[in-house]
Amino acid sequence: MKYDYLIVGAGLFGAVFCHEAIQRGKRCLVIDKRGHIGGNVYTKNERGINVHKYGAHIFHTGDAETWNYINRFADFNNFINSPVAIYKGELYNLPFNMNTFNKLWGVITPKEAIEKIEKDASCLNIGEPKNLEEQALALVGADVYEKLIRGYTEKQWGKPCKDLPASIIKRLPLRYTYDNNYFRDRYQGIPIGGYTAIIEKLLQGADVELNTDYLECKELFTSMCSKTIYTGPIDSYFNLCYGELEYRSLKFEEEWHCTKNYQGCAVVNYTERDIPYTRIIEHKHFEFTDSDSTVITREYPCDITIGKEPYYPVNTGINNELYQKYRALAKNEKTVLFGGRLGTYKYMDMDITVRTARECAKREFG
Ligand code: FAD
Repeated sequence: MKYDYLIVGAGLFGAVFCHEAIQRGKRCLVIDKRGHIGGNVYTKNERGINVHKYGAHIFHTGDAETWNYINRFADFNNFINSPVAIYKGELYNLPFNMNTFNKLWGVITPKEAIEKIEKDASCLNIGEPKNLEEQALALVGADVYEKLIRGYTEKQWGKPCKDLPASIIKRLPLRYTYDNNYFRDRYQGIPIGGYTAIIEKLLQGADVELNTDYLECKELFTSMCSKTIYTGPIDSYFNLCYGELEYRSLKFEEEWHCTKNYQGCAVVNYTERDIPYTRIIEHKHFEFTDSDSTVITREYPCDITIGKEPYYPVNTGINNELYQKYRALAKNEKTVLFGGRLGTYKYMDMDITVRTARECAKREFG
C-alpha cells in the first residue's frame, strides 16, 4: 500500500482529518473532483478581494477548543455578521430584533414589541400548526411573516410555505434587544487572507490530486490505500441503490462594479418572492478591503439537476429514513469512514465540521 489513508474530498472535513493523520505520521492521498481544494469554503483572491466562491462563509462557534484549533491555521479578524433584509424597498435589521420591530411598528420598548407580536399572533387563532406558514404565523404574526419570512423561505425551498412541514421552523429567533449581531456565539470572524490558505496548511504533507472523481476509479484508489475517508454524497457511494437523497442547490452569479462600496454591508437578504435571488454578498466587507472596485454575488436557490452541486440536504422524514438505509450499508464498509456534510447527509456549520473531523480522527488514532 502506498498510502495509509485515501481522503475523498479536499473540503474542510477531509482537510482537518488529513492534518490529524499527517501529525501522526500517516501517509495520505487527498483527491477531489473539483479543480481546487477547500470544497465549499473555497475562497479565491480576485483583484485583491477574497471572494467566497460558494456563498458567504462566516466562522462562528461557542466552542473555545474549536476556535483555538482553527486559529492555529489563520488570524481571524473581528467581522460581526449583521445582515439586513430588503422588502419592497424598505430595509430591516436581522436577526429580528428591536431595530426590526421599531422599523416595522415604531415600538420603542421590548414590552411594546412583545405585546404587538403576541397580539398579532393570537388574533389569527391558529391551533396546532399544520404547515410552515401556520407555524410562522403562530410565532410572529402576519406582518413579520409576510415581509421577512414568506418570500425568502419559499425561494429557499422552492415550495409554498403552506406545502412545507411546520417542523422546519420550530423556533424563530426573536431578540428583544437592539443587537444586530446575527450569531450568539462567543467567537466569530473571517480568516484574514481567506479560507483556502487554511486548507493549504491543513493539507501540508499530503499528496493532492484534483479533478479526480473517486467513483470513476474506486478500485484503483482502494488498492493504493489501507483506509478511505469518504466525504462525498453517501447515496452516490452506493450507486444510488435505494434511490436519490434530496438536496437543494444554489446558482451563484458574480458581478464586478466600478465603485468602492456597492451595498454597505457583506450580506443583504431579499425577502420578496418576486426577486429570484435570496441574497447579495459583497465580498470586500468580510475583510474590510480597501479597493476602488467591488465584486458582488447573487445567490439563487434552485433544484438540483445534473451537474449541479448538492448544497443543502432536505431533511424531511422520508429523506432521513432513506439516509438511515444508506448509513446501515456504510456501517458494513469496514475500511471506509463516512464524514462531512455529504457523507452524513447533514447541514453542518464549519465549527461542527472541524469538531466532527477531529472526533473522527480521535476515534481512529486514539
Ligand atoms: P464540502 O466542502 O462539500 O467538501 C466535500 C468535497 O468532496 C467537495 O470538494 C467535493 O468536490 C468532494 N467530492 C464529492 N464527491 C466526490 C467524489 N466522488 N470524488 C472526489 N471528490 C468528491 N458554515 C459556517 O460555519 N458559516 C457560514 O457562514 C456558512 N455558510 C455557508 C453557505 C453556504 C451556501 C453553504 C452551502 C454552506 C455554508 N456553511 C457555513 C457550511 C460549510 O460550507 C460546511 O461546514 C463545510 O463546507 C463542510 O465541509 P465538508 O468537507 O463536509 O464538505
